[in-house]
Amino acid sequence: MPFSTELQKTLDPYLGRQWIDSHCHFDFENFDCQREEHWQVLQTLGCVGLVIPGVMAKGWDKLIGLCESKPWGYALGLHPYFLDEHLADDIDALASLAREKMTQSLLSESSPLVAIGEFGLDYALEGADQVKQRDLCLQQLLLAEELGLPVILHVRKAYDEMAAMVRRTGFRHGGIIHAFSGSLQQGQALIALGFKLGIGGAISHSRATKLRKTLACLPLESIVLETDSPDMRPAFWSAQDNSPLTILLLAQIVASVQNLSLDQVIFASNNNVLAAIPRLEIIIPYMNTGDLG
Ligand SMILES: [Zn+2]
Repeated sequence: MPFSTELQKTLDPYLGRQWIDSHCHFDFENFDCQREEHWQVLQTLGCVGLVIPGVMAKGWDKLIGLCESKPWGYALGLHPYFLDEHLADDIDALASLAREKMTQSLLSESSPLVAIGEFGLDYALEGADQVKQRDLCLQQLLLAEELGLPVILHVRKAYDEMAAMVRRTGFRHGGIIHAFSGSLQQGQALIALGFKLGIGGAISHSRATKLRKTLACLPLESIVLETDSPDMRPAFWSAQDNSPLTILLLAQIVASVQNLSLDQVIFASNNNVLAAIPRLEIIIPYMNTGDLG
């Protein structure tokens, strides 16, 4: 088993709830040895679905294969972090693969492409080619618009630029701003453009007071829980790789910041993920989303 019995005991009070991790990289090789065992544990803890974004062309086939016959929705995209590894024709390959998957999913109910992503603008990356980033970002945004799909956006130090690009293109299918860390004003602008904001491990760190303050003011219907596993380890997590199961503990932090109950946060996140990424309903047909009163 990938987790100690001690940890599973810690999680006992959280059992009996259904939840989704709206952003994890469960396809990464970190999970190769124990992916199936890990998934079994997640299910016993109430996980009913994962959203797994693609990051580069050479990982797409593995990702699609893994999602087959699982309630894992995959996205396809070219991540700005791996700019140097993307080949010139990867964007064309992305467009034709995504078009093919959309046509296929009309005929079958398994393994749907649920979004384009993750892609975006990362101006915190030192020495990165911002012109190339913008070009790649724009092309993926236009592809999502063409296919009528939401997007999963990776944005650092470029929230205003991202919002401006969405406005300029008239993109109207929304999606999720992964690991949101902007100001309240930037968050509100993105919410107004139809996006939900991904909240994850960053809020658990003691230095993240500004982010927690922003989170306290964000409307609950704009928040989705995510882990970015195996990355973005929360402060309370000592294992080397992050796990989707930390969603439950992150939900607890959001609940205390927003002065809500754990159930209110988890149910709202579930509802918000399904609203942002509607095609997840193909693989997660029923969820108890609770009575939010
Ligand atoms: Zn990610």
